[in-house]
Amino acid sequence: MMNFIEIAARGKLKQVPEWSIYRWERINNDFIVEGAVDGFFEATGGNGDSVLSKPPLEKCVVTKQEVDKEKIKFEKKSGLCSECIGQGQVLAGWDNKIGNTYKACLKCCGTGFAVKEKDKTMGEK
Ligand SMILES: [Zn+2]
Repeated sequence: MMNFIEIAARGKLKQVPEWSIYRWERINNDFIVEGAVDGFFEATGGNGDSVLSKPPLEKCVVTKQEVDKEKIKFEKKSGLCSECIGQGQVLAGWDNKIGNTYKACLKCCGTGFAVKEKDKTMGEK
């Protein structure tokens, strides 16, 4: 999910592929994102914490429609499911014994392949 927001934001800001989101906020279905070109973070000496070293952040709004558009573009280009990025499974949660848990992707029924647009929107309209 996150990388499609990033791709949409890059497109709006006419940014380079190295641009990445630093922080974001969700408002209903839209996102307010702030980011900068990679290399923006520089580790400090002792504790290894990252600090802001090269401001400024660029900020923009990305709507759900814009994210969906990027997903469709990705599916057309790659033939893979945009929800699980072709993995066939998505993150279901986190367990303190086994770590990340996964479940079959609902969008592609675990196949990892893009579902044709006309099939997908049939029930929604
Ligand atoms: Zn999927």
